[in-house]
Formats: sequence, C-alpha cells, structure tokens
Amino acid sequence: MEDIYEYPLKQHLGEQVVPVVVNGDSVNRGQLVAFQREGTLGANLYSSVKGVVTEVTEQSIFIRADKEQTKEYVPLKGQDPLELIKEAGIVGLGGAGFPTYAKLTKPFGHGGTVIINAAECEPILSHNIERIEKKPEQLLRGLKIAMDVVHAAKGVIAIKGKHTGAVKALEQANQDPDISLHLLEDMYPMGEERAIIREVLGKLLAVTDLPLAADAIVVNAETACRIHEAVDLKKPLIDKDMTVAGKIKGNEQDKLIQVFLDVPLGTKVSAMFEKAGGLAETYGELIMGGPFTGKRTSLEAPVVKTTGGLIAAECFPKGPDKIGVLVCACSACRERMEQLAASLGSEVVGVEKCKQAVEVKGNLKCENPGKCPGQVQKILALKKAGAQAVLVGNCTDCSNTVMSCAPQLGLPVYHSTDGALRAVNYPLVRKIKKK
Ligand code: SF4
Repeated sequence: MEDIYEYPLKQHLGEQVVPVVVNGDSVNRGQLVAFQREGTLGANLYSSVKGVVTEVTEQSIFIRADKEQTKEYVPLKGQDPLELIKEAGIVGLGGAGFPTYAKLTKPFGHGGTVIINAAECEPILSHNIERIEKKPEQLLRGLKIAMDVVHAAKGVIAIKGKHTGAVKALEQANQDPDISLHLLEDMYPMGEERAIIREVLGKLLAVTDLPLAADAIVVNAETACRIHEAVDLKKPLIDKDMTVAGKIKGNEQDKLIQVFLDVPLGTKVSAMFEKAGGLAETYGELIMGGPFTGKRTSLEAPVVKTTGGLIAAECFPKGPDKIGVLVCACSACRERMEQLAASLGSEVVGVEKCKQAVEVKGNLKCENPGKCPGQVQKILALKKAGAQAVLVGNCTDCSNTVMSCAPQLGLPVYHSTDGALRAVNYPLVRKIKKK
C-alpha cells in the first residue's frame, strides 16, 4: 500500500494557506508546501516527510512518502524568535489552532503572566504529561522564550496535582525564579482558558474577554515545546504528540492507552491505529480529540496540527426511543450530541443548554467553567418534552448535579463521553468525587 500523507490547507484558525508545490514535485521533510498570505491570520504548512507530491486539491496537498525516512528536516531561515515562531507555522496544539505568533505579537506594557496550560484536561489524553515527564526542560525553555517575546514578568505552569511525576520533573528542572507551578484540581474543564486564569490569577473573565484582560497569555504545553524547537533548533511544526486509545486488538489493559511522540503530520488515522496494535473487530465510532470535545473521524482522515487524541470508542448501546439532550459549552456541541443520540437509536425530543452556556460569535462559552449553576430545571424541561432518558455532555460538577435529580425523575443518564471511557475501562462521568 502506498504511504500517502495528507496536509489540509486549513488546520488552524484564520485563512486557508496557499500551496507552493504542484503534482510531481519532490519535497524534503521540513520543506514549505503552503504559505500564509501576508496580512492574513494563518500558519505556514510544511511537509513532514521526504517524498513526491501526488495531488494538490482545493482543500489538501497529498504527498507519497519515500521508503527511507530520517528525522532530519530543512531548517527555518529566520533569526528573531517571534519571526521563527511565525515562520514555523505553530498554532495552539491543544485543539484551538490559533496561530501562536498572533498571540505573542503584542508585548505587555509592564508585568503580565504567560501561563502554560498543562492541565491535559480531557480524560484518557496523556501525551502532554508524558513529554513533560521525559523532557521538562523543553517546556521550560519554550515558556521562557514566550515570556521574553512578550516581556512578561512571570511564567506559571498550570498542571494537575495528580501528575506527581511531571510536577517533580518540572520542579527539579526549573532554575528560573520568575517561573512557578500552580497545581490544579482533577476535574473537567480545568483546561478551559478562562478556568485556568481563574485558578491561577483569581480573576474570572467575562465570556467576551480575552486573557489579555487579566494581563495574561495562555499557551498549551506542547505548543511551548514546539516554540523551543522553532527558536532553538529551527524546526518547523511537522510533528505532533498524541494519544491513541480504546478498542485495540487483544484488549490488553496496557495497550488501551498509548502515547506516540513526534508523529509526522499528515499520517493517516488508520496508520496510527495500526501502530497501536490494530483496531478491534468491533467499535462504536472513531473520535479525533478527547472524549468531551472530540469529533467523529474516519480511518482515511489525516493527523493535523490540532489532533491530540484518536480513540476507538465502545459500541453504542441501544438507547431509549425518545431522548432529551443537555448541551455544555465546554463539551460536545449540539450537532455532536444529536449525532450521538442518533447512534443510540434515539429520537431527540428536546434540547436544553446549561444555563451558564452563552452564545458568543456563534459558539457557546461558559460563564464560570466547572462551577455548576444547578441543572434541575433543565432536566425537568426535558422530561416535560417527553424524554425517557437524558444524554448530557456536562462538566464534572454539573454531571454530579444531573445525577442528583435525573434518576429520581425516572430518567436514565447517558453521557457524551461514555463510549470513549468504556473503551479504556475508565469510570463514567456521573457522580465523581473531586480530587
Ligand atoms: S457550568 Fe455548564 S456550561 Fe459550564 S462547564 Fe459546567 S456544564 Fe458546561
């Protein structure tokens, strides 16, 4: 089988990038294949393999990889750190995809904090923590570069206290008095940008505020490591860390969650499951991302800059005939919830959203992420609409509240994360004690 790598031209927030290669071109690993047009928000795109361009479409560039590959790459040309971060095509690798140079373009007047989001908030995903445990100095160096670029007075690494190995590795490697750690509780959605700022700086931002309103910039943990690579090693963004999990052949517990560091972008989803040992004969769906915010994907899809997880979920149970849906701002969107309801074989008879979920520019944002405003009214409304059960996507705290009322009203509870969590034998999001 041919080893074809696909590079979608839009895998970031902003405008699609412009191809600079045509069919038949030979390319090296680290060679620019599509560029960000001047004056637009975007992120350059590089080949992650040595090979030959086989197709350029309106959406993607396809490259057939040579049999022999090395880790070498074409180095970046820039000198200045911000210039290199932009040239490298680095974007928010936690899933947001916002071009990182744009975040770092405006220096703080005085003071200011760069916060590293090392919460790795989604259950199952564990590649950020693994890299930190193995190479804490990369994250610390990336943070220092970002702090220097924006003239920040302080750097804070926000990480869950339960990750004792990673916390210890960072504490031992850190020599900088301006950099400290902030330990987070183990609950979802601690990794939400405004939740992190609330926990670290004690400021709850309005849903329309950017982190700059708290004199803060938040950078994902892997993004910081890639900043170090771009500035110190002149390496473009061509590799991605990820977690592959779920229904893997053999169902051995130690294979159910596997981390792969430095996976070349453009690799097919099918190839990643093969590397993990092969997909089990049956599974419910393939998810790209984490259990809460991931989307359904296919074996043919490519790994992109924002891919963090690939999960083969458990088969869907047979749901009730009529189901009510409760949507969270920090979890599966309405369309995804409806997709899950359809897979349960249930007709959606009512849709409610958590009362802290408000619409901002077409997306839901939570007014105070992870602090439950009470869900009884919403559950009652769904029952009134004729629901025989509820499908919820709520955060940890709100799921606790749902569980305090729905079963008493005779409504069984399904959670959007059930299939992913069942596939790795994790406890379901229902009544979960905070750690
Ligand atoms: S409070 Fe509501 S919207 Fe906010 S995270 Fe929890 S369920 Fe989601």
